[in-house]
Amino acid sequence: MKNDLSKKTELKNLTLSEIEDHLVELGSQKFRGKQVFNWMYNNLATSFDEMQNLPKELRADLDEKYSLKTLEVLEVQNSAESNTRKFLFETSDKRKIESVIIPDKDRNTLCLSTQVGCPLDCKFCATGVLGFKRNLTVGEIIDQYMLVSKEFGKEYITNLVYMGMGEPLINFKGTIGSLNIFTSEFNKSLSRTRITVSTSGIPGKIKELADNNFRVKLALSLHSPFEDIRSKIMPINRKYSLKDTLDAVHYYSRVTKTRITFEYTMLKGINDRQEDLEALTKISRALPSKVNIIPFNSIAHMVPTGLSAELEPTSSADIEKFADGLRDNNITVMVRDTQGSDIAAACGQLAAKTENNLEQN
Ligand code: SAH
Ligand code: SF4
Repeated sequence: MKNDLSKKTELKNLTLSEIEDHLVELGSQKFRGKQVFNWMYNNLATSFDEMQNLPKELRADLDEKYSLKTLEVLEVQNSAESNTRKFLFETSDKRKIESVIIPDKDRNTLCLSTQVGCPLDCKFCATGVLGFKRNLTVGEIIDQYMLVSKEFGKEYITNLVYMGMGEPLINFKGTIGSLNIFTSEFNKSLSRTRITVSTSGIPGKIKELADNNFRVKLALSLHSPFEDIRSKIMPINRKYSLKDTLDAVHYYSRVTKTRITFEYTMLKGINDRQEDLEALTKISRALPSKVNIIPFNSIAHMVPTGLSAELEPTSSADIEKFADGLRDNNITVMVRDTQGSDIAAACGQLAAKTENNLEQN
């Protein structure tokens, strides 16, 4: 069957009840909605032809009006250093996005993208330096998960992190819509406790996410406990102060009763000093939380300018000292290893391949 994705409705943008409504409108019955949903999400169907228990005419009708697959896998890159793999996808309008699968002892974590590029321009982030093109649709976010599952088997992905390209809370519709599917009945292998949304801090949306009641985990990209320094490395802090962002994070923690993660990318001389350690300790101790230290991945391949060009990583010895200092203050700390850095696969570093794509458009 022919599949012209651009003019069709993306079925994965619809909830189960919306699919049911569409089927009734097509002259079919409501119960077919569950069948279609099941084929898409449980059997990983990528064509209507596979949906054997649907009448042939209905399959043809659906194929004419709806698309099932929003992305094509262009390339899978393996890291020489670890089992990390990077997937390069192409959207129907020829944008390129990336996801990374990071295997660990007892889990396989998929790092999802929510936007093509990112508008927030954090000075240490390859995606930020690249600029912004558009939000991903709900279907495009879900399809990163579906297509990786198709490659490795349905039970393979145990954890999801919204830490790829883009700011999930700016693409709120895409984030909420995909969480709605990921936490729905269809997926028993992915409980809400294994899903983390990472944000640079949009207070209103953090609160709205709390009120949406998905109760997934929240990670705040903190990176500095001080307003002025945070504003320099994360321009979003000029719009929404750290104080307001932390208030929203406290709200999230109270409403969802989940433990907050503070992400902290270590930048030499900028956020690795004794006063940073003390101020970070204070922030972290104010609520149930842990600190996730991320070694800074150089973004030199992006030819950065201004402050971006001056950033240097804290040495691993100093990272360990900083982490121990936090531990001495009874903070739970994880130091992320740089798995897959040879393919620039670390979350937050996705973009290299998309550069031309963005410049041409
Ligand atoms: N926009 C969201 C999610 C994507 S970024 C956010 O900012 O939270 C995921 C994480 O990677 C963030 O904590 C981000 O600050 C971090 N990150 C970005 N670029 C990085 C780099 N070059 N080295 C290390 N961590 C980086
Ligand atoms: Fe966007 Fe997150 Fe990168 Fe900042 S760190 S530019 S918010 S993707």
